[in-house]
Amino acid sequence: MPHRALASLPGAPPGEVKICVAGTEAQEAALVADTLRRAHLADGVPWQNMAVLVRSAQRQVPVLRRALAAAGVPVTVAGDELPLPDEPGVRPLIMLLRCALQPDKLTDEIAAELLTGPLGQTDSLGLRKLRRALDRTSLSEAVNAPGILDSVSGRIAAPARRVASLLDVARQAIEGDGTAEDVLWAIWDASGLAGRWERQSWHDPAADRDLDAVLALFDAAARFTDDLPPGSPLLFLDSLTGQEIAGDTIAEQAVREECVRVLTAHRSKGLEWDVVIVAGVQEEIWPDLRLRGSLLGADELAEAARPDAAAPVLSQAAGAGADVAAAAHAARLLAEERRLFYVAATRARRLLVVTASGGDEQDRRPSRFLAELAGDELQIQQAGAMTRWLSLPALVADLRRTVADTSRPLPLREAAARQLARLAAAGVRGADPREWYALAELSDTGPIVAAGERVRLSPSQVESFARCGLRWLLESATGAGRPDVLRHLGTVIHAAAVLISAGAAEPVVQSRIDDIWHHLDFGSVWYGSHQRELAERMVRKFIDWHQSNPRDLIATEEALGVQVGQVEITGRVDRLERDPQGRGIVVDLKTGSTAPRDEDLDRHPQLGVYQLAVLLGAFERYGITEPGGAELVQVGKAGFAARARVQRQRALSDDPAPEWAKDLVDAVATGMAGPVFRARVNPGCRTCPVSSCCPVHPDGAQLGP
Ligand code: SF4
Repeated sequence: MPHRALASLPGAPPGEVKICVAGTEAQEAALVADTLRRAHLADGVPWQNMAVLVRSAQRQVPVLRRALAAAGVPVTVAGDELPLPDEPGVRPLIMLLRCALQPDKLTDEIAAELLTGPLGQTDSLGLRKLRRALDRTSLSEAVNAPGILDSVSGRIAAPARRVASLLDVARQAIEGDGTAEDVLWAIWDASGLAGRWERQSWHDPAADRDLDAVLALFDAAARFTDDLPPGSPLLFLDSLTGQEIAGDTIAEQAVREECVRVLTAHRSKGLEWDVVIVAGVQEEIWPDLRLRGSLLGADELAEAARPDAAAPVLSQAAGAGADVAAAAHAARLLAEERRLFYVAATRARRLLVVTASGGDEQDRRPSRFLAELAGDELQIQQAGAMTRWLSLPALVADLRRTVADTSRPLPLREAAARQLARLAAAGVRGADPREWYALAELSDTGPIVAAGERVRLSPSQVESFARCGLRWLLESATGAGRPDVLRHLGTVIHAAAVLISAGAAEPVVQSRIDDIWHHLDFGSVWYGSHQRELAERMVRKFIDWHQSNPRDLIATEEALGVQVGQVEITGRVDRLERDPQGRGIVVDLKTGSTAPRDEDLDRHPQLGVYQLAVLLGAFERYGITEPGGAELVQVGKAGFAARARVQRQRALSDDPAPEWAKDLVDAVATGMAGPVFRARVNPGCRTCPVSSCCPVHPDGAQLGP
């Protein structure tokens, strides 16, 4: 790196530099906590003489702060690294106040966040039950008009009633001309959170932090009321969110205390600590080569691509000019990012540790800066799952493993049990067997859907449930699923397919894709360009398939909704077509890299349910009542190199056992109603996003019997 040559102060002890790569993000957080704890406990470095530096405040600070706090490392985050409204303890109070002041802000999404937060106190499963019980009534309507909840069973309705009554408290305080501080106090008082968080804070640093954040909020509200009497709640909220006022009270309090600072590299300029950890040095995060804001980036590109622009190379066609300008801009960004990394790496007086996670074969990869820093002199160390971390949770985990392992000598297991009892008596989380998942009582053994209630499912859900019931449940409950990047690409290709089906020419379609491409976040310029090329190829394949398809196109993106017994099948089909015999053919466009085996197609769940829906009259409005088969059209990597791959399921009427699709829907509906959801090993386990919660997967083995 072309930087100034630095020299140590005369007589200063030699410094040390380590570069460590962990297997996963969680292991990296454990490694950071472990390094800080060892430096403090073994080497006597005061907490306040250490810092953790990251590239991105928004993406990295909250994750690290929580992980360090959970590992028992006292941390402080500068107030302006995390604005007060974004503090997890404050956000629900502000959100509720906003909804009380401006009822139109109470959308379904906000209602769901309030219900699953500390005010509503339910989880995704509870939310799901509530949604089902409300049928067609929205969550926002339910919390706005709690009378709607009268028909819902008490346990399921309780979270919505809690939020509704807090909204009522807030509205009454507003009507009584309360100041921002008065109204917030009324909500806080009625929520009962003070006692709960105070008790939790004994063993949970996050609750402690939440309490601090709420104190900072009240402090800000009091100052606002003093400065701007009569302290209108709405103005207060606008001042908080509009100006992103920092949680300065928290910041200042914490910096005075003995805490490790977590801050961005930008803010670290001019500061120094004995021990500095530069964490999360991942490719696509550091260097961050995305254009700095779409408007600015577009302006720079447009300027550089002007034919009369100064650089001679840019006097080519505008498209070529834009490419060259983008490359030059990326090179400038890279140099800037490298300088910033250098700033971060030179903040340490004694020990510098640079960390990252992942590897070449994974989605997460360590940044190129690690190799540059290591040069020929330093070795990059690997920190794996087998590393013993110096933290209380790791100690508890070790003791629990020893107690439960019948192959270990009995005296050792008894000694571990005694230590666990000691820790449990001191209130350490996870030490008391009553908190162990495997021994905990089930909170609810009933089904998710009560007998007689309708079960709503879509053809794609039938497929994912048929593959693995547990994965379906966890993905629906937590929202885990395909990474954003894959979702972006799939959405763009589906939108392009609609345009093409409506008669748009390829150049028009490609230019529409270009228009929206810059708004999508692919993490880095090079990856975005790679995905753009992929998108172009997919569009080409789709056009070729579309043009050679002899059937009549009836509709695209068409909604379906039919009922069979207690089951309602809902969803949308990519294309509905009519074959020469007048039968309906549903076509599903696939953009992924995996395809079902051809020999499995005749029992493909999603296609089977489409056919069943046609048979049940989902498209009677088009005069289509008989299915003539269904198709997957693979335009992604699961297709052929130069053309789409069509995978066809025969017509149900040609199947020797046509009732299979109806039987499948019945079985899946019964299974979805619960209460048991089985983990079923299948080829998708390799990339399953919920594997750490699955007892039959090595990642989740600790949950097993
Ligand atoms: Fe199901 Fe496999 Fe995921 Fe486990 S790892 S939940 S068996 S898909």
